[in-house]
Amino acid sequence: MATNALIYKKFRCIIGKANLFKRENGGNVMNVLVINCGSSSLKYQVLDMTGEKLLCKGLVERIGMEGSVINHTKIGMDKVSTVVPMNDHKDAIAQVLAAIQDPETGVVASLDEIGAVGHRVVHAGEKFADSVVIDDKVIAALEECVELAPLHNPPNLYGIAACQELMPNTPMVAVFDTAYHQTMPPKSYLYALPYEYYEKYGIRKYGFHGTSHKYVAQRAAAMMNVDINDLKIITCHLGNGASVSAIKHGRVIDTSMGFTPLQGLVMGTRCGDIDPAIVTYIRQKENLPQGKANEILNKKSGVLGISGVSSDFRDLEDAVAEGNERAALALEIFAQKVRFYIGAYIAEMNGVDAIVFTAGVGENDVNMRELICTDLGNLGIKLDIMRNKVRGKETFVNTEDSKVKLLLIPTNEELMIARDTFNLTKNL
Ligand code: AMP
Repeated sequence: MATNALIYKKFRCIIGKANLFKRENGGNVMNVLVINCGSSSLKYQVLDMTGEKLLCKGLVERIGMEGSVINHTKIGMDKVSTVVPMNDHKDAIAQVLAAIQDPETGVVASLDEIGAVGHRVVHAGEKFADSVVIDDKVIAALEECVELAPLHNPPNLYGIAACQELMPNTPMVAVFDTAYHQTMPPKSYLYALPYEYYEKYGIRKYGFHGTSHKYVAQRAAAMMNVDINDLKIITCHLGNGASVSAIKHGRVIDTSMGFTPLQGLVMGTRCGDIDPAIVTYIRQKENLPQGKANEILNKKSGVLGISGVSSDFRDLEDAVAEGNERAALALEIFAQKVRFYIGAYIAEMNGVDAIVFTAGVGENDVNMRELICTDLGNLGIKLDIMRNKVRGKETFVNTEDSKVKLLLIPTNEELMIARDTFNLTKNL
């Protein structure tokens, strides 16, 4: 079991069983705290759900390390960075709660003004197809999923446990990266392995970034003024991690990430699809232990591995400008794989009405969007080069005569988490 999973087990013993929340504030508090816990970092936001208004946001870094810091921004004010020792996620959550109640830069007078907390959880296996109010049974089910996501689920669970201890009367909701993809049919999610591995170990495609794919698909339908149930949409979440989904009539029918977030597209540092025989071959040739092989596939591959320059597309484009051919090759291979999935999903859906670009690269990288959309006219996909010269805002980037709409939509996973959290808890 990976270290994170082991540490989580110990942590859970210390902090005790989940408290069942007891609502004391009458269920009429509209502020939602959104928590996204990583292994050494934590992102948070407070939103007032009356008008879905962001009140503050922040990032805690270096949890459990020297120099841990909380960066807090009240909307309309400058960012405040405070270096303060944080030994674990409970310390980090305590700092977040202090920051949001700070008389000057906070947004609530007391924690009673937080109606609910929404937690991002990466992996729910086949256990949850939607967001859920957290209770002891949910915690137990998520603990069973730790094996499926040993790097991601433990920190998510730390965050939940710490919030439950520090806010015992506030309802909590878990929102899963895998949930939106649970509509995939078996022909999309089963691997051609002995069927017993699916039955015994749950080995199948799960898909990730579900909250982002759902958000941008819904926004695309709204921008097009067409019911999502009448649309075939391909959503391209292109960030450091990247995935493409085929969404037919509002339901995911296929997605590029798999049993883990390693499958599919070429990513910043992840290899994406490769011949699985390569893994055994390299391990033999380089005498690599399993952990090292995993590290190479997850941390040293992707556009970083091909270019030898960086996982950041801005660095790669700078390198290309200086004549670096491997950086250019890395970008071409990345684009090629996105095109491959777009083609595959057009076939799977028998057409497409809209293609959406989102996340760091999808929202900001003008050149990459152009590279992806080049010469797709026969598929009815025509990018408007001038309209495409735009970053980070909701807009159409297709030509007038393009059969397929091309949309740029900044993702907003936190808003989706806050919405589900609010909707599931407002009547408690
Ligand atoms: P994300 O994982 O969604 O936060 O995306 C992070 C990635 O987006 C970074 O590693 C960059 O490669 C990419 N990115 C962000 N801004 C730009 C930009 N202006 N141009 C190109 N790539 C960008």
